[in-house]
Amino acid sequence: MKRALVSIDYTNDFVADDGALTCGKPGQTIEKDLVQLTRHFIENGDYVVFAVDFHHADDPFHPESILYPPHNIKGTEGRGLFGELSEVYDNFRAADNVHWIDKTRYSAFAGTDLEIKLRERGITEIHLTGVCTDICVLHTAVDAYNKGFNIVVHQNTVASFNAEGHRWALSHFKNSLNAEIR
Ligand code: ZN
Repeated sequence: MKRALVSIDYTNDFVADDGALTCGKPGQTIEKDLVQLTRHFIENGDYVVFAVDFHHADDPFHPESILYPPHNIKGTEGRGLFGELSEVYDNFRAADNVHWIDKTRYSAFAGTDLEIKLRERGITEIHLTGVCTDICVLHTAVDAYNKGFNIVVHQNTVASFNAEGHRWALSHFKNSLNAEIR
């Protein structure tokens, strides 16, 4: 089975202490495992997609503008990958099996070329990492399920500011989306 890893929103704004919409400690705790897994997939030749939130400041048409403070704004440091993941991306960004997606909604599938990239490579299984477990990872998983992909969630590489939401999302992945939790 061909597989891909989708790395969701592990940016300064979502993870760093001073991030605009940070998960804080839970997000920082997964750094080592997330980096190790991402490196493993890239070096193994598997397809790795960095799906990263992309917003414009004060966008009156975006639904998140009324829900959250500005975050992951185009051209800002907040939109950079957090910690060691940033180095991994810089080292491998030119590799054929590494792809960057600017996403503007929770799901990495919404309005992006993710599905077409996966289909043309014959990929049927997607592995999810990043933040937040119960928002962007969840919405990506739901879309993946509806599109017929097998889903694997590495529980030590996903996190949320909301511990209850994190636990609920993991059970939802397993019980309702038939995901394998590793
Ligand atoms: Zn956003």
